[in-house]
Amino acid sequence: MNTQEFIKIEEQYGAHNYHPLDVVIEKAEGVWVYDVEGRKYLDCLSAYSAVNQGHVHPEILKALLDQAKKVTLTSRAFRNDQLPLLYKELSEMTGYDMSLPMNSGAEAVETAVKLARKWAYQVKKVPRHQAEIIVAGNNFHGRTVTIISFSTEPLYRDDFGPFTPGFVVVEYGDAAAIEKAITPNTAAVLLEPIQGEAGVIMPPEGYLKSVAELCRKNNVLFVADEIQTGLCRTGKLFASQHEDVRPDIVIVGKALAGGFYPVSAVLADKPILGLFAPGEHGSTFGGNPLAAAVARASLKVLREEKLAERSAELGAYFVEQLSEIPSPHVKEVRGKGLLIGVELKPGAGGARRFCEALKAKGILAKETHDNVIRFAPPLVIDKETIDWALPAIRETLNMK
Ligand SMILES: *Cc1c(COP(=O)(O)O)cnc(C)c1O
Repeated sequence: MNTQEFIKIEEQYGAHNYHPLDVVIEKAEGVWVYDVEGRKYLDCLSAYSAVNQGHVHPEILKALLDQAKKVTLTSRAFRNDQLPLLYKELSEMTGYDMSLPMNSGAEAVETAVKLARKWAYQVKKVPRHQAEIIVAGNNFHGRTVTIISFSTEPLYRDDFGPFTPGFVVVEYGDAAAIEKAITPNTAAVLLEPIQGEAGVIMPPEGYLKSVAELCRKNNVLFVADEIQTGLCRTGKLFASQHEDVRPDIVIVGKALAGGFYPVSAVLADKPILGLFAPGEHGSTFGGNPLAAAVARASLKVLREEKLAERSAELGAYFVEQLSEIPSPHVKEVRGKGLLIGVELKPGAGGARRFCEALKAKGILAKETHDNVIRFAPPLVIDKETIDWALPAIRETLNMK
């Protein structure tokens, strides 16, 4: 079957909740993906940073296959021999005492919301069911009803209410607004260290540090959603570390399983994560042995291939090269590590047409929020490949 035939079937039988580029991928390796016509593309999205380790990484593949032959699912009614080791390795790598495994990112965000509320009632003694969580405008934390309840994007919310109460939205990047919004009932501040989906929005320098200090001063938990910015994407294990911030709760997902499997987790120290008692929260698939084995291998690749350092180095180079492109359309190039956004001017005609043009030149990037092109290739990319892509990007950014 050819591209058009696959697309026709997909459009007929699938819900239209995405607007994908019309490329039908059938295999991938490292930074490259191949479509059903045999064309080869550089992946500059990395499945929204889920494949930081590169597509079909051989060591993660091996872990998946080996584990799949042994045991894949036990449920948490019984123990398995992979989850304890994932717990230990996550703790050693991140410095947090404990973790709680889930599957999708949204589930881990939901878990963090429940955890922050439980902490508020049990530890801070907020009157029951009065806890408030402060979030930022233009956030993206997932798609469940509770999470879209504090989204500010009409597209994510309209027609999906009634909404979950208990959230206060303030402007992203404004620490004073958070200070003003804190009340005796505030359980937590939940933020993305860089807002990826909003268009790679970087907060002003010192913002995370100020917020973390405000939280400490006011006995409020600082929760960082590092699902996209974490696990080496921005040049450090966590983006919060760029400001020496250690959030009370960190949420990870996406690259935690190198693109092989949905695995997410909430990380925190024992006085917080230790609050969950048996039966209060769970997931049939969360922490299953296949997920745990894949996550262990994925973390090992991040460490052994020094992907944080690589992202920092190559990201700085990529941003510098992109910034030097003379273009009538570009308003700003920004990013940290290999999480890069190219914001176009309002008159540029939207990012989509540039992504279509890049696709025709063998580069897959995706527009985010109409006027930003995100460049976030797998962290295993090398300088030669970036140099290969630059002329095509240069040409595209100069089209009529
Ligand atoms: C992708 C993402 C999520 C949601 O993860 P899913 O696995 O799609 O549920 C949450 N927060 C951030 C910052 C993300 O980028």
